[in-house]
Parts: sequence; structure tokens; C-alpha cells
Amino acid sequence: MEEARTPPHCDIIPVIIVGAGPVGLLLALRLAQSNIRSIVLEQEATLGAAPRAIGYYGPVHHVFNEAGIYDQVSREGMPSGGYVWRTLPSEDEKGTKTLGSVLCRNVMSCPDSDGQYKICTYSIQLAQCRLAEIMLEEVTKTGLSEVLWDHRVTDLSQDENGVTITAISGQGEPKSFRGLYLAGCDGGKSIIRKLLGIRLAGHSWPERFIATDVLRTAPVVEDPPVHFTVDPKYWGVVTPLEHVKAGVKGLWRYSMAVPAYEEAEDGSRVFLTDEQVLEPKYVNSLLLRQLDGPRPSDHVVVRKSLYKMHQLLASTMYRGRCFLAGDAAHINNPIGGLGLCTGLLDADALHQTLEIAFSLGQGDHDQRHIPTTNGANGILSSGHGCRRTINLQNLFLRYSSERRRVFQNIIHPYSSANKTRLHSADPEDIAREDWYFQALRRGDPKELESINAPLYNGWRTDMWSLVGTSLKDA
Ligand SMILES: Cc1cc2nc3c(=O)[nH]c(=O)nc-3n(C[C@H](O)[C@H](O)[C@H](O)COP(=O)(O)OP(=O)(O)OC[C@H]3O[C@@H](n4cnc5c(N)ncnc54)[C@H](O)[C@@H]3O)c2cc1C
Repeated sequence: MEEARTPPHCDIIPVIIVGAGPVGLLLALRLAQSNIRSIVLEQEATLGAAPRAIGYYGPVHHVFNEAGIYDQVSREGMPSGGYVWRTLPSEDEKGTKTLGSVLCRNVMSCPDSDGQYKICTYSIQLAQCRLAEIMLEEVTKTGLSEVLWDHRVTDLSQDENGVTITAISGQGEPKSFRGLYLAGCDGGKSIIRKLLGIRLAGHSWPERFIATDVLRTAPVVEDPPVHFTVDPKYWGVVTPLEHVKAGVKGLWRYSMAVPAYEEAEDGSRVFLTDEQVLEPKYVNSLLLRQLDGPRPSDHVVVRKSLYKMHQLLASTMYRGRCFLAGDAAHINNPIGGLGLCTGLLDADALHQTLEIAFSLGQGDHDQRHIPTTNGANGILSSGHGCRRTINLQNLFLRYSSERRRVFQNIIHPYSSANKTRLHSADPEDIAREDWYFQALRRGDPKELESINAPLYNGWRTDMWSLVGTSLKDA
């Protein structure tokens, strides 16, 4: 095995990662797999358990595969070959609810004869907290990255040779760490973004969104098992969090819009505070609109979290030797599951960027020689092939601009459309008039392929190819 890449001054850490969310952990894992050491500083004492992402698809499967976790993630997760849009459940005279009528159906793929879906053609439904656990187990096995729990980063400075950060440990003790590069994977409220003076631009949505993990016995499990509820006020997303079966208790995610206001019996508008929304009685009232099955319902809320929804993008994803990835750089509403998937693809692109930077050896920070041949394992085989000069700041700028382009041109418009499709009009009107539903009904494979092409072809960034081509003479 090649010796791990450690800088000449042994007290300098090659890469400091802030945040042990899935984006930071994937970056640590991929760097370790390229023999690049890192430390991960996490303010919490353990991995986060809040109900957040659940669906992973498209090129993210290939990234999981390259990281060696695809088999486990796909085995533990519930596969979904598509999704359905429905009205709210309807109620019979005994109060029993049946799943709402189907407004449209998107079948992306079917399993092969062995019951398995082909990689990249379907969605894996697995709770984000479990995904992070799998990543953490793999990071730990490498021995090349250490997670320092209970370390809250508070300050940062950088010069031409490296980055220094301060973190406050659980005991309230300030500690300094010096690294060659820093990756801010510290989520939507990123302190790294703020310390770098990088602004977020965009807008926030008026509704709040509550995610609940619910243990329940579903009377039926449809194929595909994921559905969106279309309604001007009580829209939402229903998805299993594990392999669920009809008539057997299983874990489901019910994510529901919290309307800007409720109507009192006298018709007046009632605005609920976050605390009021999180009261079990109100959460139950939202859930009972979405849950099919007999009453009383046997559901138990295991976890719940209330969120605001935004469409926000950082003005840059790098400054000097510091980078942003994941929610630290961009935030979109969760409908359609594009947020974490995009963050994981940032981690993939940043891994490649740093891999390229480290492949060039230590030397002048701005100008490095890059051999034009790419080694079989993705690491430049230095000393072979003809060499040319690459400007590292241009490489880093390219990481930022490519990932920002993905958000601005693909993720922002797609996720906005995914959300507004659920509530912009009467469900029957949406079913009839929405352009995407019309295309799905026409079912022309070429048309559907062209609609999905940006996601499948442009979502992932191949930094190695960019270096080999357009970064030439940058
Ligand atoms: C209800 C809901 C459903 C969603 N569903 C999907 C989905 O199906 N698919 C999808 O792709 N996305 C989905 N998303 C989005 C997804 O959850 C986020 O994109 C994802 O959490 C971003 O991961 P991250 O690692 O960038 O940030 P985070 O998960 O927020 O992790 C950041 C980490 O940094 C740590 N941190 C913060 N500040 C500091 C500091 N100063 N010092 C040290 N550590 C710090 C935090 O404690 C945290 O552990 C959903 C989001 C929500 C709210």
C-alpha cells in the first residue's frame, strides 16, 4: 500500500473537515481511500439522528459504489423504482381511510429477474442517520481519519501555507489545529461560510415542513411504495424507511407541509408558533390526514423535526485553501430528495480536487506541475507522461463554479418545480395540466430521457476530466 500522504511538517493535517454529517464523512472516506489523511471536527457528541434525507439515486449510486458502501446501503435500504402522486386519503363511513387516488405515476425502473434493481436506475430509501453510521464505520476502518466529537469550530485564519482553526472542546477548552486545506461541511448554518465572509443568496418559502418517523402497520404497501400527496394546503411525502410489508409494523417517514396558518371555527386565521406545531396533538392532526388504514390508527411517532425551507446558494464554494460542500454551500427544499444527493456529489468533486492537488506534491501553492496521464486508480502517476503547469487556484475556482452551476441550473429549478407541483392548484387541475405529468402520461422514452438528462448527465462533476481538458493552460 502506498504511504499515506502527510505533509513534511508532521503537525500539519492534510485536510481538516468541519462537520460529521454525511457530506463530511463521505469526503473523509474518499480522501482516506486516496491515502490522504484528515480529521473531522464535529460539535455534537454523536451522529445526528434528526429525520432528514431518505432517498438516494442517480449518479450518487456510483459514488457509493466507488466508496465501497453501495452493497450495504442498497441491501439495508428499501428500493423504489419510482413514485406516485396522490390526493389525500379518502374516508369511508366508519372513518377508515384508503390511499388517495393516483394523479400520476413515474415508473423509473423495474427489478431484474433476480429481484435486484440496476445501479443508478432507482431510488434507495434509507434514513440519513443510518447512511451516516455506515460511512462512519468505513471511515474508522481506514485508520486515516479521526472524528473529534464535541469540538465546535469557532474561528479560522489562513495564509499561503495553510489554514488554522480554533475549536472549543466539550470541556470548554479552546484548541488549535493547522491544516493544508479545510472543508466546511458544517451544514446550512455553516460557521465556516460565515468566517470566510461568503454570502448566501436566494429565498425562503412561506410554509414550514415537519418530518416525522412513524412506526405503523400499513394495510397495503403499493409498488412503488413512495408517494407525494398533492393538496393546496396539506401536501406531503410518504416513504418507507426500511423493508416494509402490508399488515406488519414498519418504519415510515411522513413529511408534511405546515400551512402558513390554520382556520379557527369562526373562520379567523390562527398562526401557530414552532412550539405549537410540535405539540403531539397538532402533529397527530396532520398525520391523520395522511395515514390510510382503520381508526383508531396504531401509529407511533418515533422522531419529529420542524424545518424552514429555502432555496439558497453561496456566492462561492472556495476561498484560498478553504472549501464548502453540501448544505454549507446550498440549500433547497426537500421535495424530490435532491439536497443531500447534491452534497454527496460535492464531496465526490472535492475529493477529486484535493486528490489532484495532493498528487502534485508540496511546493509552490499556486503553480504546480501536473502530469497529463491519469493513473488507473485515479491518482496521478507522477513522473510519467508529459508535464504541464496548473494553477491550483484555478482548479479550486473550477470546483466552485462547476458545483454552483449544478445547483443554479439543475437543483434549484428541479426542486422548486417538485415542490410547487404538490400545491400550486387543485389536485385534479395539476394532474391534467402539469407539463411533467403530461410527459409522464405520454411515456415517450426519448422525451423522458431528455427531461431527466441534466440530472443523470450533469449532476456529478468529473474534476479529473476537467483537468485533462479545459483546465489546460488555465
Ligand atoms: C425533512 C428533510 C428531508 C430531506 N430529504 C432528503 C432526501 O430524501 N434526499 C436528499 O438528498 N436530501 C434530503 N434532505 C436534505 C439533507 O438532509 C441535507 O442536504 C443534508 O443533511 C446535508 O448534509 P451535510 O452533511 O451537508 O450537513 P448536515 O447533515 O447538516 O451536517 C453538518 C454537520 O456539521 C456539524 N457542525 C455544524 N457547525 C459546526 C461547528 N461550528 N463545528 C463543528 N461541527 C459543526 C453539525 O453538527 C452536523 O453534524 C432532506 C432534508 C430535510 C430537512
